[in-house]
Amino acid sequence: GRAASRPTHISYVSEQEGFDANWQLSLLASLGDAIEREQIYLAFQPQCRLSDERIVGVEALVRWRHPERGVISPSQFIPQIERAGRLKPLTAHTLRLAARAADRILSTGIRVSVNVSATLVADDDFVPFVHENILAGGGRPSAITIEITETARTPDIERAARNLEKLRSIGYHIALDDFGTGEANLSLLVALPCDELKIDRSFVVLSQHSDRARMVIGALEKTTSMANMRMVVEGIETEEDRSTMIELGCEIGQGYLLGKPQLLTQFIQMLGNQAVDEPRKLTLY
Ligand code: C2E
Ligand code: MG
Ligand code: MG
Ligand code: MG
Repeated sequence: GRAASRPTHISYVSEQEGFDANWQLSLLASLGDAIEREQIYLAFQPQCRLSDERIVGVEALVRWRHPERGVISPSQFIPQIERAGRLKPLTAHTLRLAARAADRILSTGIRVSVNVSATLVADDDFVPFVHENILAGGGRPSAITIEITETARTPDIERAARNLEKLRSIGYHIALDDFGTGEANLSLLVALPCDELKIDRSFVVLSQHSDRARMVIGALEKTTSMANMRMVVEGIETEEDRSTMIELGCEIGQGYLLGKPQLLTQFIQMLGNQAVDEPRKLTLY
């Protein structure tokens, strides 16, 4: 292939790295511009009741529509932006966009979940940072769930817990993302106040072959419902995934079977196809 035409494997690798370093620099240089030009946007993925696919929530996932590279996914730019110390301005922007979306679907009673890296959560100004950006986007706390990603990287768990409790006291919901992976473990579930637990897709995959994985999922569903929390199973891709999770007592899922991440207008269309009776009940818990 390509490497064979190069003098050595090593020189190929370092050229590749050089290319990536340039690419990363150009990404960072253009972040401000990209925000202004609305190249940074959110895709919306429904969270559905597994029994009847009724939409009960929605997660906002950031995307970068790059003029040369096309649409870039967050795993390809969030780490670079974080290393460059630019995660806060990016998050300010996604909070505002999520708030704007929440305002547009307010009548449905559905909250918009927006991802925020745990590295920001212990900041002194985290509570006003979140609240001011949500208000600036025309949102209100009762329409927003702050989804904490990469919780294993929380710098100061006690301070993070205090900040999250303050956000809850003014009406935000808190979700812990990717639960069960190295990123989010049992001690964090005990330490951090939250309203929702998101079970990582790796559990769905394991459950296909492992009785123990199924037992753990069933037990987590019981635990969260006793604690008055919502549990969302991520990565429901097939009918089999769905029926397995229903058998285990799980109520809510997210995944390609139920709906892909999509533009807000498409998501609103999807919402419009379901009757908006009993909006209160949609919020489940
Ligand atoms: P996440 O929050 O766990 O988001 C779920 C990811 O799984 C999304 O990838 C989504 O597109 C993908 N997904 C959804 N359904 C399925 C499925 O059925 N099967 C499979 N295999 N995958 C599915 P995406 O959008 O590339 O996001 C990746 C990660 O980037 C997110 O994981 C989250 O940790 C992070 N992220 C996304 N948006 C933001 C943001 O605004 N801020 C921060 N800090 N992180 C973000
Ligand atoms: Mg998430
Ligand atoms: Mg997740
Ligand atoms: Mg995940």
